[in-house]
Formats: sequence, C-alpha cells, structure tokens
Amino acid sequence: MNQQCDVLIIGAGLSGLLTALNIDAKYQILVIAKETFMNSNSMLAQGGIAVEMNTDPILHQGHFEDTLKAGANLNDPAAVRALVDHGNEAIKRLIELGVDFDKDADNNIVFTKEGGHSRNRIVHAGGDASGYHTTKTLLTEISLRRNIRFLEHSMAIDLLQNEKRICGATVLTEGSKTLHIYAKKTILATGGIGSVYNATTNDLSATGDGIGLAFRAGAKIKNMEFVQFHPTAFFDEESKSRKRFLISEAVRGEGAKLINVLKQRFMQKYHPELMELAPRDIVSQAIYREMYDTWTDHVFLDTRELDTKFLEKRFPTIFEHLKLHGLIMGIDLIPVAPCEHFICGGVDADLKGRTSIRDLYAVGEVANTGVHGANRLASNSLLECVVFAIEIAKDINTTIESTELETNITKSYPPKAEFNYKPIRKKIGDYMDEHVGIVRNTDGLTLALEVISKIYEDLLKFPNSTKYYYETLNLATTAKIITNAALERKVSIGCHLRIK
Ligand SMILES: Cc1cc2nc3c(=O)[nH]c(=O)nc-3n(C[C@H](O)[C@H](O)[C@H](O)COP(=O)(O)OP(=O)(O)OC[C@H]3O[C@@H](n4cnc5c(N)ncnc54)[C@H](O)[C@@H]3O)c2cc1C
Repeated sequence: MNQQCDVLIIGAGLSGLLTALNIDAKYQILVIAKETFMNSNSMLAQGGIAVEMNTDPILHQGHFEDTLKAGANLNDPAAVRALVDHGNEAIKRLIELGVDFDKDADNNIVFTKEGGHSRNRIVHAGGDASGYHTTKTLLTEISLRRNIRFLEHSMAIDLLQNEKRICGATVLTEGSKTLHIYAKKTILATGGIGSVYNATTNDLSATGDGIGLAFRAGAKIKNMEFVQFHPTAFFDEESKSRKRFLISEAVRGEGAKLINVLKQRFMQKYHPELMELAPRDIVSQAIYREMYDTWTDHVFLDTRELDTKFLEKRFPTIFEHLKLHGLIMGIDLIPVAPCEHFICGGVDADLKGRTSIRDLYAVGEVANTGVHGANRLASNSLLECVVFAIEIAKDINTTIESTELETNITKSYPPKAEFNYKPIRKKIGDYMDEHVGIVRNTDGLTLALEVISKIYEDLLKFPNSTKYYYETLNLATTAKIITNAALERKVSIGCHLRIK
C-alpha cells in the first residue's frame, strides 16, 4: 500500500503545479490534493499577477519600493529583489506553458492597477478569472506529463522524518486509509489558512494544514501575526456560508469608490494621496473604523461612475455573481466588508524555498519567503507562487541525485472514530474573529490564546485518524501560532493593529 516517488508535492494550486512542471521530466513526481483540483485559492484568484515585464531597472525598482512600502519595510529586501527581478522570467514561463493573458486590440498584454501600486503592472486572464485560467492551463499541461501522477482526495496528515531530514508524508486517502509516501524531496504547497476565521474569501478547505504539518515536524514558522483582511468581500446579509465572495481590488483600480452607509466617501481621512487604492491594511482598517462609527457591518463600493457595459466585459465573474444577487454593477451600490484573505507569514523558507528542515521545501501562500513583510502588496501572491516554484525546481534539479530515498520510517495511527468537530471549529473561528481580527488588544489576545490552547491540548489527548480531526488540529495549531505571535508583537505595524 505504501508508495514512493522522487518528489512529493503536497498541494495542487498554482505553486505546486508550476513546481512540478519545472522539475526535470526524468524524476517521478506525485502531486496530492486534499479535495478536488478545483478546491484551491489559486482557482479563485481574480485580479491577476503583479509584474514588470520590461527589464528596465527603474521599473523594477518601482515594484520593489511599492512592495516594501506596503509591507511596512518588514520585508526581506533580498526576497523582494528576487520576486521583482525574476517576475518577467516567471510570467514568460507561464505564457510558454499556454497561459493566455488578456490583450488589447493590437495583441499587447494589458496591465491594470491595484491598491499600493504606483503604476499599472497587473497582468490578468479571462478578465477577472486570472487564477482559474492560469491554474487550469497548468493542470492540462500536467495531465500530458508521464512523470507526474496525481491523487485527489488525499490529505497529508504528518511528515515522515528521521533525525536528519524529511522523507515524505503520511497520507489519509478517501476511505480514511493511511499510507506512507516516501520521497527524496517533499514540498509543502498547501496554501492558506482562511478557515481559521469564521468569514474568509478562501476556499473553505484552507485549514492551515501546511502550518500544522510543519509545526509537528519542528520546522521554523514566522510572521504569522500578519493576517491580511481583504477590504471588499461582498457582504451578503442572507448568506449562511462562511465563504465570502471577493470583489477584486481591480474594481477600485478601474475607478470604483468606497462610501459609508451615510453615502459619504471616507478614504480621504485615512490616505488622502492614494484614497481607495491605498495598501489593503489601510483600507481594511479604514472600513472597520467607518463601520464602528456608523454602527453597521458594511460599507458600499460605488461603481456608479463607471459604464455598465465596460464593467460586464472587464469583470465577467463579479458582474454575474452580483447580478444573481439582484445588483447591477454601474447602477447599484455593492455592500462590502473586510474578512480574512491571506496569510503573509508561514513556514520559513529561503530564496530557494528550503525550510529549516533538510529536504522539506515550502512554496506559495504557506511559505514565509519574506516578500510580504507586514502586509502583502496586491497581486504579489501569485507572483510569489510562480517565482519561487521555479527557484525550488532549480534547486531540486541540482541536488536530487545526491539525495537518498529513505523507506524504513513507519508511524502508526489510532482507529477512526466518528466525532463532530463542527462546534470546536466554530469556537476557534468565533475567538479569532472577535479577538485576533483587524483590531487587537492584550486582554482579547490573552483570552483567545487561553481558549485556543485548551482546545489544542484536548485535541492532542484524543487523536483520531480522520480528515476532520486533522483539519481541526491544524486549525487549532494555526490559530494558536497566530495569536501567540500577535500577543508578542506589541506595536502596530502593517496588518497587525494593536490598540492596547
Ligand atoms: C478570492 C481570492 C482572490 C485572490 N486574488 C488574487 C489575485 O488576483 N492575485 C494574487 O496575487 N493573489 C490573489 N489571491 C491569493 C492567491 O490566490 C493565493 O495566495 C495563491 O493562489 C495560493 O496558491 P498556493 O498554490 O500557495 O495555494 P492554493 O492555490 O490554495 O492550493 C493549495 C493546495 O493545497 C492542497 N492542500 C492543502 N492542505 C493539504 C493537505 N493536508 N494534503 C493535501 N493537499 C492539501 C489543496 O487541496 C490545494 O490543492 C486571491 C485569493 C483569494 C482567496
């Protein structure tokens, strides 16, 4: 039942897929996904990818500086330099693999603008379906590769390790069977943490699994207090789902304004220069303040100065979604509120994606490469996925020959028991929303840490070989790490706002 391969990639979003496609075809690669290949944040990405396609150093410097400014200079400058300078090479690779970025009538790629960018540098595909188009293209390409196998509905629950290195992972298959997959190199490409909160723009399968796996293996995890809340998730009063539909920043990039429930524009009070296109942390915190001052749970995105036909063509997915809710872009005000969107920190990784444990890599949203600092610049996340996927593949191509396959490690697991983890998950989300959200204070963080630590300890006492148990354990682990980090960082910076 156990399996082996040269490279095990845990996650089938943009970062995992592009890594697989850049590893030399002579190596056997296994890509696993917890649910279907459609369940990833990559599939949901709307706005696009930030990149300077021109090699002009002045333009690269502009992207570099915008990234540091958004990240409150807490970024690792070497990582930002790599991100910005290798961006065009990475986008060219996507084009070579078949990704068709949107073009104008003269067949030139079009660039749009988003919050925190000093000029238009976002490439997009399918209007506002950039992630779907890019990820689907890579999936098609992967299906043609004979050296790459994939397994859906297969959840990594533990990393296999000896005293020196990571040697693969234990995987729970659809029928709750555990199997060991031995690999020379293992890559965490598990994405975000959205479900740690009760409301998120993420696919709800984002339960912080990569953080849990890395933590249990003893890998270094950093910058977890920097949770980015997207300012403009659609506020649908009637929806019972925890998943919020995103209204891309690019809508503001095309000229939409924010107004409060009193129909007053407010961004001039918070960032008179960039207004609605200020970095996300500033816009989310401004909306939070306006909602507080007007005793409401939302503000409005005002697209009424924009042409309906243009909006329909430019944002087909958003237009359609809103229409289903009885709202027409260009005519109706769109209710929006901030919610969890992205984790800036993660499993610490160097410029080659190597973590603190040998033969374990981290790529994409799960990784802390240092590019985002205290707040991510819009559309830098997909860029991080593609730039570092290529760097990891290069490192693997040059080091794998000298890496041994270790197949002697085994781990045993308790039998499966039926248990309803839903109330525990809800409790974690409630405490995270209330005390570890946009605004934080010492008393709230201390209380949340106490409650979440107790949940975490209880889960450890009663192990259970089911997907829901491991997801809940990963949620509790991630929530605990975020809360601890938020408590330790006493001063406000970027998307970490402390009022006491
Ligand atoms: C609505 C939305 C819009 C966005 N728009 C943009 C944008 O326009 N531009 C931008 O730059 N960024 C955007 N982002 C952020 C960006 O999409 C993500 O950060 C990025 O796609 C993450 O890619 P990834 O490969 O790291 O992870 P994902 O694409 O999330 O993939 C994670 C994969 O890991 C698998 N997985 C997780 N845990 C396990 C496990 N235990 N075992 C096996 N498999 C596992 C999942 O099944 C999935 O296949 C957006 C995010 C959202 C939610």
